[in-house]
Amino acid sequence: MLHPDIWHDATVEAARTAGGVVPVGPWTLHLPRVFGFCGGVMNAVRSLAGALNDVPASHDGTPAGQVWLLGEIIHNETVNAWFRAAGVRLIPEPEIGGVLERVRQGDRVVIPAFGIPLPLEERLRAAAPILGFSLIDTSCHDVRRIWDFTAQHAATGATVIVHGKPDHPETRATLSRALTPANAVILLPGAEEVATLAAAVARGDAARLPAECIWQAECLDWSNLALVHQTTLLREEVEQVETALAAAVLSRGGRLSRDAGICRATQDRQDAALELCRTGCACFLVVGSFASNNTARLHRLAARFAPTYFVSDATALSPQRIRHFDLETRRQRDTRRWLPASGAIGILAGASCPPSDIGGILRRFQELARG
Ligand code: SF4
Repeated sequence: MLHPDIWHDATVEAARTAGGVVPVGPWTLHLPRVFGFCGGVMNAVRSLAGALNDVPASHDGTPAGQVWLLGEIIHNETVNAWFRAAGVRLIPEPEIGGVLERVRQGDRVVIPAFGIPLPLEERLRAAAPILGFSLIDTSCHDVRRIWDFTAQHAATGATVIVHGKPDHPETRATLSRALTPANAVILLPGAEEVATLAAAVARGDAARLPAECIWQAECLDWSNLALVHQTTLLREEVEQVETALAAAVLSRGGRLSRDAGICRATQDRQDAALELCRTGCACFLVVGSFASNNTARLHRLAARFAPTYFVSDATALSPQRIRHFDLETRRQRDTRRWLPASGAIGILAGASCPPSDIGGILRRFQELARG
């Protein structure tokens, strides 16, 4: 039985028990009241581990089937590397459409937490009983809630606006469920672009919208809009978009239907991070994958309060310098004299960050304190 140590870390559990306050030498490390893996991520990670365990052995003891993962299970290097090493065949996201050419009888095919585009999911569901593989769907129920809302409004002819990062698998999965022959679909890549979209709505004219935003322009109905957001955005971005679009559609006497917005787990982590940010830490470390949207949002929150460093794991920290990801340039860089001589340091981690990486940071500070 596989027992991944990525979802349990004794140092992190001790920190939780201590109320998130960890004195280490001259520093006090502070963790928010909510951080790290959410329920949706835990479900996806456990389901993938279960799929590995369930592959029967052939007569010579080797696995009688492969476990194919359709893109990363979540956006975290530690977790994906762990599963690769355990035998999972991870298909890069741009290549997942070719999975049926690889799969064999007895294999498992796993849909990650963000989901996959609907046409591919439908092909896999139809092919599974014929080819004899099992399809394991770990897509999060919060993501599926958004798909249900999207499909329901698309079916009524509403123009669906999908607010999310264009290159994120969740956004692509949602877009695929927004298309019908009788409705239009607009992609809003970020809150920065909402003024342009709101002006288009108010004018009833898509002419000045960037081409990459127009997913399907036929049947555009500017008076009947349905708005959905990627689950891991910042709440204030969601509110900014909703306010601007509601005013624009109201000005033409139309209506804007909207989903509940970002998921509860993202909301809870943002709220808890904000509470911690307001306590006056000297600096913050945000731990997680540079590809993780919810982790990048935590960085944006914390950076308003104190110097904030986005790090992938404990190897980034040395007394002299810290290697961190710059969200503006999308590159890693070193910063010297980052470590305060004493005081409070906040440690933030999004829903995709495993306890092992958070615990690694806490242990690294113990090493730094020993000198
Ligand atoms: S962050 Fe939200 S949408 Fe993503 S897996 Fe967790 S609960 Fe689901």
